[in-house]
Parts: sequence; C-alpha cells; structure tokens
Amino acid sequence: MNHRLNRILQGIFWILVYLFLTLLPVLVMFLPPRPPGREFIREFSVALGFVGLAMMALQFALTARFKTIKSPYGADVVYHFHRQISILAFVLIVIHPILLFVPQIHPVSILNIFSPETPWRARFAVTSLIALSALIGMALWRKPLKIEYTRWRIWHGILATAAVAFAMLHVLGVNWYINVPWKRLLWAAYSIFFVGLLFYTRVWKPWQLLRTPYRVREVKAERGSSWSLVAEPAGHSGMQFQPGQFAWLTAFNSPFKDAEHPFSFSSAPAADGSVRFTIKELGDFTRRIKELKPEDIVYVDGPYGAFSIDRHPHARGFVFIAGGVGITPMVSMLHTLAQRNDQRPLLLIYGGKDLESLTLYDEVEALKERLNLTVVYVLENPPDGWQGETGYITREVLERWLTPQRQKDQIEIFICGPVPMMNAVEGVLAEMGFFAGDVHSERFDLV
Ligand SMILES: Cc1cc2nc3c(=O)[nH]c(=O)nc-3n(C[C@H](O)[C@H](O)[C@H](O)COP(=O)(O)OP(=O)(O)OC[C@H]3O[C@@H](n4cnc5c(N)ncnc54)[C@H](O)[C@@H]3O)c2cc1C
Repeated sequence: MNHRLNRILQGIFWILVYLFLTLLPVLVMFLPPRPPGREFIREFSVALGFVGLAMMALQFALTARFKTIKSPYGADVVYHFHRQISILAFVLIVIHPILLFVPQIHPVSILNIFSPETPWRARFAVTSLIALSALIGMALWRKPLKIEYTRWRIWHGILATAAVAFAMLHVLGVNWYINVPWKRLLWAAYSIFFVGLLFYTRVWKPWQLLRTPYRVREVKAERGSSWSLVAEPAGHSGMQFQPGQFAWLTAFNSPFKDAEHPFSFSSAPAADGSVRFTIKELGDFTRRIKELKPEDIVYVDGPYGAFSIDRHPHARGFVFIAGGVGITPMVSMLHTLAQRNDQRPLLLIYGGKDLESLTLYDEVEALKERLNLTVVYVLENPPDGWQGETGYITREVLERWLTPQRQKDQIEIFICGPVPMMNAVEGVLAEMGFFAGDVHSERFDLV
C-alpha cells in the first residue's frame, strides 16, 4: 500500500482509540444499571470531569514514547497535541466544579480543605486541581519563570502523577457512577492502566536501557562550538534507525535518573550499530559532552521521529533547509543517500553566522563530490570577497533557489533550525504554494 495512505490510516486508527478511551468513562456512566437520576447540570458536570480526567490519564500514554503510536505523526506533533489537549482537559476539569457551584448543588466553601466539614472526596478534588494548575502554569511559563529544564521535568512528572492520582481518589470517594462491581472493576482497570504506564516509563524502559548500553568510541570537536559523539553498542546489536530521526541520550547518569536529552543522529545507519550525535554547547548537559572519554558508557533510547527521507521513497528529489546545528539530521540523510549512491537532485540551503561556525561544513563539502547536490550557504557575516548568499534565509533567497520547476517536481522539503527561522521559512513556503504535506519540520525546541 502507498506509504502515505498507510500512515494516514494508522493515524486515524490511533485517533479513534484515543477518542474511545477518552469517552469510555462517560459511556460507562450511561450504561445500566444507572444510579437514580439527578439534575441535568450535575450529570453534565460529572461527564466533563470524567472526560477531563481521562484526557489527563491518557497524557501518560502520549508521552510514554510508544513507537507505534508516534510513528504516523512524528514526535513533535504528538508533543504539540499533548500540550494543547492538556489545556482543554484543564478547562473541562475547572468547569466541572463551577457547574456545581452555580446552582448551589455544592457550596463554594467545600473548597476549603482545612475545614473539618469538608469531606475527603472534596479534599482529593481540590488537591488534584491545585496540582493540575501548577502543572499547567509551569508548562506554559517555564521559560519566563526561569525554571531550569531538568528541574521542571521532575516537577512535571510529580505534579501530573499527583493530579491524576488524587482525581481518581476523588471519583472513588464520590462512589456514584461506580455503584456496581463491574463498573468498579472497569475503573480499577483504568487505574491499573495508568499505574502500568508509570511502571513502563519509570522502571521497565530504564531497565531495558541499562541492559543495552553504548560505549563511547570518539568525541571530536566540530565547528560552531559543537562536539560529535560516536558510540557503539556494548554487547548487543544496536538499533535500526532511519536517517534524520533522533534518540534520547543519557550520559553521566543512570537511565533511572530521567536525565536524558534528545539529539538527532548525524550519521547514516551503520552496519556495526554505531551512532553519532553532533551536539552544540548550549547549557549544563551539552557543555559536558567534551568530558566524555572513549570507553565511557552512555544510553541511547530511540529511534524516534518522522523527519526522514525514508518516509518518502518515491520523491523525485529533496530540499534541505538548515540553520545552525539544525544541520545534523540533514547530514544524516545526505550520508545515507551517498551510501546508497542515490543520484536524485538535492538542494541544501544552510544558514549560519559565518563559515567558521557552520557545523559539519567539511562533511557537507565532501558530500558534494558523491551526490547530485547543490549547496547554498547563507551567511550573516560573510568573509571578504564572498560571492554567495548573505543575511538570513529570506523569501528572496528561497525564490531564487526553489524555482517554479522545483515546485512542480515531486520534491520533499525538510526544515530544521532556530524557531524563528523555521516559522519564517514555513510561512514563505506556504505562500509560494508548496503543499504542507511535502514540507517537514523538526523542532529542537520541544518544550
Ligand atoms: C528532536 C530533537 C532533536 C535535537 N537534535 C539536536 C542535535 O542534533 N544537536 C544539538 O545540539 N541539539 C539538538 N537538540 C536540542 C538539544 O536537545 C538541547 O539543546 C539540549 O537538550 C539542551 O540541554 P542543556 O542541558 O545543555 O541546555 P539547557 O540550557 O538546560 O536547555 C536549553 C533548552 O533545551 C531544551 N532542553 C533541555 N533539556 C532538554 C531535555 N532533556 N529534553 C528536551 N529538551 C530539552 C529546553 O527547551 C531548554 O530550554 C534536539 C532537540 C530535539 C527536541
């Protein structure tokens, strides 16, 4: 079957599964035997609460990195959905008590968790809501609040678990729609599913990583304050990845520490299972890459992502638009095409500050010899006598190189670089009439 159609069908399947699991608690609510009827507004409020809770619990499945779920969409689409859906779930969950307060089904004073009159079920609900509010606030404003990523991630996990766990205790405490044993059993299954997901991400996956370590082979300085780290599987066969994909790297820590960082492969898939990442010094973790020595152990969880030429085997050519260290997945794809002696027309537009800061510049130059590849460097500070493009990757630059002929051809376009560059390029390509389905982006700034 056509690759794209297959992915669309897979995508639709998982959306239906998601919808079913989100609505399951409400469906169960309406199945007989039903408890005695109550006011519509109360039933409606409960339904919203159930849907919101199911969405929150399913967030753990979205971020558990199940490859089959992510493969039709790509990791960044799933994370984007994760972010947007959490806001919707939050809104539903906030409306749930408001609908009970307005017609005074419950007094607002029930929110006072310190009052001896407040029942435990309400205390659980309020605690869940506090955790959820903190979770959403920290996720939306992490950068303005200057919360360091690793610390944020730990709190994100704790608050999310607390929000869902207390909400489930609230449902148990209310005990209205789980009035018969089979409904209680179903609710227990939902809770076990949630705890199972926690076990999978926090225990099972780290354990698997511990059993499949990688040994550092080489750490090499690159242009643009970057380091290439080559690692080989230690005692196992390694992983099969598609060029352009990424993996989560753990170094200096055990996989149980949850201190991993995502990096694109910058190498082609190798027969010996070795992998290479090219990492720009940016913060606490990336600045330490140069401390790694041959024989050190690191852990690689992957591959992930949909950013790959291998998902478009029938393309007539490829265009790569990279800014800064966004060149890494492109170089992985170019090496792979060279390895396969693929002579389809390729265009690489590579923007950077100056020639000295263009990471993997020498490799790109060497690849020109082996591929049908045109490279356009766009330099902010060009050297004296530079004849090429200057400034940023603007509409003018794109129109000069992405000629109408290229637009007609069946080409796939890959973009990776700083967020402002990616947003600008995506906008221009849409204005130029490129089909959104042929334009693929990898955002290094997931959160
Ligand atoms: C799919 C993908 C592929 C990437 N590929 C590359 C690559 O090939 N080369 C490269 O140099 N960089 C790549 N990055 C970016 C890289 O992950 C971050 O630069 C790195 O994690 C920064 O960590 P730090 O502690 O050094 O910096 P910090 O100063 O702690 O973080 C800087 C920013 O990086 C992001 N970040 C930090 N830690 C994480 C984490 N654990 N998980 C997710 N995001 C994080 C946050 O947005 C943070 O604000 C990629 C990112 C993604 C999402």
